[in-house]
Amino acid sequence: MDVMKIKEVAERAKEMALLSGLQMRPAESPSSSDLIHHGPFTLFPSKIPSKLLSQAKEAQKDFNLMMHRVAHDHDFLYQSLKNVIKVDEFTKHLWDIYEAVKKEGPAQTKCLGLFRNDYMMDTGGTTNTNMDNLKLKQIEFNTIASSFGGLVSQLRDVHRYSLSEADIEFKEDNMPDNNPANGLAGGLVIGWESYGKQSAYVLFIVDKVERNRMDQLWLEKEAFNINRHCKVIYSTFQDIGTNSVLNDSKELFIEGKEIAVVYFRSGYSPDQYKSQQDWDTRLKIERSKAIKCPTVHYQLAGTKKIQQELARPGAVERFLSDPVAVDRVRQTFIGQYSLDKGSEGDEVIERAIKEPRKFVVKPQREGGGNNLYDEQIPDFLKENRDSDERSAYIIMERIFPFVQKNYLIKKGEELLLRNVVNEIGIYGVLLGSESDILENKEIGHLVRTKSEDSNEGGVVIYVRALFDYNPE
Ligand code: ADP
Ligand code: MG
Ligand code: MG
Repeated sequence: MDVMKIKEVAERAKEMALLSGLQMRPAESPSSSDLIHHGPFTLFPSKIPSKLLSQAKEAQKDFNLMMHRVAHDHDFLYQSLKNVIKVDEFTKHLWDIYEAVKKEGPAQTKCLGLFRNDYMMDTGGTTNTNMDNLKLKQIEFNTIASSFGGLVSQLRDVHRYSLSEADIEFKEDNMPDNNPANGLAGGLVIGWESYGKQSAYVLFIVDKVERNRMDQLWLEKEAFNINRHCKVIYSTFQDIGTNSVLNDSKELFIEGKEIAVVYFRSGYSPDQYKSQQDWDTRLKIERSKAIKCPTVHYQLAGTKKIQQELARPGAVERFLSDPVAVDRVRQTFIGQYSLDKGSEGDEVIERAIKEPRKFVVKPQREGGGNNLYDEQIPDFLKENRDSDERSAYIIMERIFPFVQKNYLIKKGEELLLRNVVNEIGIYGVLLGSESDILENKEIGHLVRTKSEDSNEGGVVIYVRALFDYNPE
């Protein structure tokens, strides 16, 4: 297609994205919605084989249930995390809150999970680009602040439009409905209903500086559509620290409003806890009767360390009894190894120093941009060979994602046909107590796209684009 035509289609697609509510705050004014522009997205949907998308969707309920059970298995959590909490201060803070609530006895036994399980389409490092040979491999399971469900739900319409404008034929069946915003909001609403007080609120804990505000607002809007009595308030950790009260019945109030559900869109990263007061606030919330999304034990279950421990023989079987479900989960695993001293890590470290491009080293962090790749790996491993600090990390085999071509539309960036790779996320909802599952669903997907040559941020910009799928 000629350049002029593509530019014209891209301009129209941007307008349609804005009109549809695929919006973001600009970097220049991230704390206000006075100026809004479109979020990053691909001009056309990327190709995802329907076989792989179905496989990911079919495994979601198994993953939801497994992670719920992991979170309730004290022994598994402790054995997995005991060396991490010796050296990783952030995980230790979470662990201390978990122990304090456990000791006191939880005021609320139900937990709400709004999850996103992420995968890539692995070529195994071969140059064979036949899409039939791609394998679905898990990157990570997110138990806190799984984002972009709001924005991605608006993208199907934009893509149908951009394909039509560009005179590209497509089948409607290949552009399935996808509305995780509705599914995530549905999760918040059932959590709110199960609290059982119509006058109570859903609290979104957010950052003051938040470019992705509209993504959050989509969930509020959908929740309101599902049940207009389900009202949302927003607050930051810092404000909750001064505005909240926990009464004798462990009911949580913010400025006199009782809170039924606490939805954390902040609290996954050390820099979001600005002082001890913020950690005290987290503890106060965890002790309360409000339904937490997630509870601190869900957050612990979502650490990279737990995912590595789940890759051990017999670990998935500890949580899922149905062998077919076990198989659905296991098929998506790639090698992950402990970096504890005296573990298999001793041997893997030597292999990774020799062939770093086959591995990724991950700390217990969320939000992107924290992993180590390529030449960073030998530097890090050599430096930490004799240090207990290495237990704070895990090492994972590297996925070599399938490369395809697309145009990335991002404010301020040149429109170019690029080599891009995709990460598929499947959203899931679970509401339940330890023994009683009230809801367990798969609720839609997200595909994020980045340039082939970016690991994830750092030096090269991580273009987080969103799009639907379009199998041949
Ligand atoms: P975070 O919780 O910070 O998002 P991830 O595990 O998702 O951590 O890692 C961030 C990014 O690093 C992923 O989105 C993916 O692009 C890349 N990545 C993670 N694990 C691997 C892997 N095993 N192989 C290749 N790339 C990976
Ligand atoms: Mg994550
Ligand atoms: Mg991730």
